[in-house]
Amino acid sequence: MLRKKKMNNKGYLLDMDGVIYRENHLIPGAADLVKLFQANYIPFLFLTNNSAPAPEDLVVKLQHLGISDLSPRHFYTSAMNTADFLAETHPRCTAFVVGEAGLTSALNNAKIANDSIAPTYVVIGEGYFGAEKLYQAHQLIEAGSRLVVTNPDNWCPVGSGKTRPGAGAVAAFLEACSGMRAYYLGKPNPYMFTQASKRLSAQYKRNLDEVIMIGDTMETDIRGAIECGLQAYLVLTGSTPLDSLQDYVYQPTRVMESVADLLEEIRTGQPSDRRSSPVLEAIRRAESKNKPGRRHQTDGQAFVNQRRRPYMTS
Ligand SMILES: [Mg+2]
Repeated sequence: MLRKKKMNNKGYLLDMDGVIYRENHLIPGAADLVKLFQANYIPFLFLTNNSAPAPEDLVVKLQHLGISDLSPRHFYTSAMNTADFLAETHPRCTAFVVGEAGLTSALNNAKIANDSIAPTYVVIGEGYFGAEKLYQAHQLIEAGSRLVVTNPDNWCPVGSGKTRPGAGAVAAFLEACSGMRAYYLGKPNPYMFTQASKRLSAQYKRNLDEVIMIGDTMETDIRGAIECGLQAYLVLTGSTPLDSLQDYVYQPTRVMESVADLLEEIRTGQPSDRRSSPVLEAIRRAESKNKPGRRHQTDGQAFVNQRRRPYMTS
């Protein structure tokens, strides 16, 4: 009984792409996990760095994929995080938006007015926009507007192994031509995780003993969660291959093959007696062989002769 109470006092933050779905297919176990959360009134919130969709759009997307009974309050996007940040730091500020409807609606909901003449901030998200918009953003920054970006992702997966440029890449362009440094919201900025945790407690009217972030990307999901003291569970169904874990200084608090690994312990209310899935054993075995050529991320020479494709943000 005591154990059950402890399980119920956890809240879950879940990344979406690579955790819940991949390329418009649900990852096995994801729908059951959401059902379990809802049936047991366990706090959960989806976190995404994609600033293009509004929460209402994400409800529909997950419905098409096979997860129903969700509502907009189950989603927190980097666009909403940016709107929260600007409203809190600079009430009555204005913004020139380079992004999609999810970003403009988040700013509108936070009572931040659109301004193309002398905005306090130029706010960058991902999306499809022309060079003219970027020229306008550049001129506004040159005239004194500050540069804020919804997330640092340089590229985003769009399916079939293809990617599109992300908000971080657009911001890099504006940083280069204006000489101004941008401020990045979204994961891994701890502001994303602290705001999400607050929402979780407020929505379920509960003080949570533990908040667990479940994600597939080391640079965003795992790094941000670790930096603000949350549990960070890595799933191997997305962007991080198991053998890349040793490249990182920070490490997940638990590695799972997929979200399906959680079903049994949530169903029974008994915490798992193993904190990690058997895949961790594979890492330990590989490490014990002390493979030549493997370098730690803090090693300055690691990337000199090996220009690898970064997983997400770097
Ligand atoms: Mg992901």
